[in-house]
Amino acid sequence: NEAFLQKDVSSVDEKGFKGHDMLAPFTAGWQTMDVNPLVVEKSEGSYVYDTNGKKYLDALAGLWCTALGGNEQRLVAAATKQLSTLPFYHSFWNRTTKPSMDLAKEILEMFTASKMSKVFFTNSGSEANDSQVKLVWYYNNALGRPDKKKFIARAKSYHGSTLIAASLSGLPALHQKFDLPAPFVIHADTPHFWRYHLPGETEEEFSTRLANNLENLILKEGPETIAAFIAEPVMGAGGGVISIFSVYAQIQSVLKKYDILFIADEVICAFGRLGTMFGCDKYNIKPDLVSIAKALSSAYMPIGAVLVSPKVYDVIHSQSNKLGSFSHGFTYSGHPVACAVALETLKIYKERNILEMVNNIATKFQEGVKAYSSSPIIGEIRGTGLILGTEFTDNKSPHDAFPPEWGIGAYFGAQCEKHGMLIRVAGDSIMMSPPFIMNPEEVDELIEKFGKALRDTE
Ligand code: PLP
Repeated sequence: NEAFLQKDVSSVDEKGFKGHDMLAPFTAGWQTMDVNPLVVEKSEGSYVYDTNGKKYLDALAGLWCTALGGNEQRLVAAATKQLSTLPFYHSFWNRTTKPSMDLAKEILEMFTASKMSKVFFTNSGSEANDSQVKLVWYYNNALGRPDKKKFIARAKSYHGSTLIAASLSGLPALHQKFDLPAPFVIHADTPHFWRYHLPGETEEEFSTRLANNLENLILKEGPETIAAFIAEPVMGAGGGVISIFSVYAQIQSVLKKYDILFIADEVICAFGRLGTMFGCDKYNIKPDLVSIAKALSSAYMPIGAVLVSPKVYDVIHSQSNKLGSFSHGFTYSGHPVACAVALETLKIYKERNILEMVNNIATKFQEGVKAYSSSPIIGEIRGTGLILGTEFTDNKSPHDAFPPEWGIGAYFGAQCEKHGMLIRVAGDSIMMSPPFIMNPEEVDELIEKFGKALRDTE
């Protein structure tokens, strides 16, 4: 186990292994020196295959994104058709393409939690969240409120890894050694009852305490300086943290009081993962701005977007003659191939009734994995729909973490891999987010493999 955690880079080097040539994202130096990196070559439904032909159940759907699994030929056909007609044209200066206009219209029709009037396209979730900050700053400048610029995000949130998105994220690893977070970002409480409730505190009391803390934070900073609050309806990379329902009602009423915008980061939750079309539907969130990506195209092409409410858009629109155009965007904003693939993805979600598909397997998935909750090394298994987080702790207590050098989470992840299943590991939390197309037999396989990896780890 220790050797597994502490790969000796120098000895690998002496043997002449160079590792691969990428500076790979979120990858430690010793990992790239690994003589056996997992090189994924092919995907099929809920499975991926490595270059040795080993088959893995993809319990993470790529990176929370391949909602329609590994070989949806309709998406391949949509991409091919668009590539052969118009592989690229931009959407700057009121020039645009049909797929991008059609996709914007479709997204606005699908999002019904609150009224949205425009869609701004990006290539990723990080770019969507970066764009949120610029939109909000432009909005407050247009309103003549130049001091209302700070953002409140939550500890343990993940909003991406560009400078601004990493600043918004509440994960220390994204800040350390990068001189982040940027000074305009403040982090508030994580709404994780099991981990952070006080002795004897009920869920309702916990929720009220968090709302009071938020209000006190706003008052301390000065409400005239706080522009927006950003939150994932269910936290993904921070551990698959499920919020108590009342948290959002209370947060929204505090934000409203101080004219602070609510940005819903739906990059993981949107399009069915929680069993509702959007996380905002599940938690009755009425956001002013929304970020989406991932399942928007089932990851077959990189694409993200920001949904802009009339409240924000009308100000930007009406003031742009005075302030100048909203000078922000990317060459590939609204890339026609990505938009064509996303349009086909959304069409498939509708035709196949994606919510019914998700809900049909969600109960089996949740109940099956949660049945392992009594394991002596598991503190909590939490989840809803097709997202689930497991936390390894001693004595079933959030306060009794295992020594980090034991690497329980990483060891469990390696056992899953050994048994042919891929999951996400973050310290002693592990997460799963299966593709929406998983069938009940594959869910059984997932539960069985989880159990085998757990027995190996215990
Ligand atoms: N927001 C959330 C909630 C995410 O989970 C992620 C990625 O996992 C992002 C933003 C960043 O998206 P991307 O990796 O596409 O930049």
